[in-house]
Amino acid sequence: MHEALSEARAAASRGEVPVGAVVVGPDGAVLATAGNRTRELNDPTAHAEVLAIRAACAALGAERLPGCDLYVTLEPCPMCAAAISFARIARLYYGAADPKSGGVAQGPRLYSHAQCHHAPEVYDGINAAPSEALLRDFFRERR
Ligand SMILES: [Zn+2]
Repeated sequence: MHEALSEARAAASRGEVPVGAVVVGPDGAVLATAGNRTRELNDPTAHAEVLAIRAACAALGAERLPGCDLYVTLEPCPMCAAAISFARIARLYYGAADPKSGGVAQGPRLYSHAQCHHAPEVYDGINAAPSEALLRDFFRERR
């Protein structure tokens, strides 16, 4: 989670919404780290989770990431929650809850749907305070 937070801080310094994600392999090694790059890449799908999953799959030369864990500083949105499911991520650890755009514990609650073929174990509130502080400071400066 520490590395996810530094990715979130790095995203903020690039003018991106400060969200960071890390994929850890079954052996505990970090496979990929990423922060949001939607502005830099002109890509609305370039959320930290999606970029980290893509990089981890590329690193492993694999289509899926069974047995891997994903750490992210903010509750994943519905798009990322679906990508996490498609990647067969075993465990999802996230920091701040996202009442506006979250898709895991609120909104669509993606993993509770019958059509969701793989749901990770979910652990929320991990380092929530610093994750929230980063987002709060970022949006305060924009107003
Ligand atoms: Zn997302």
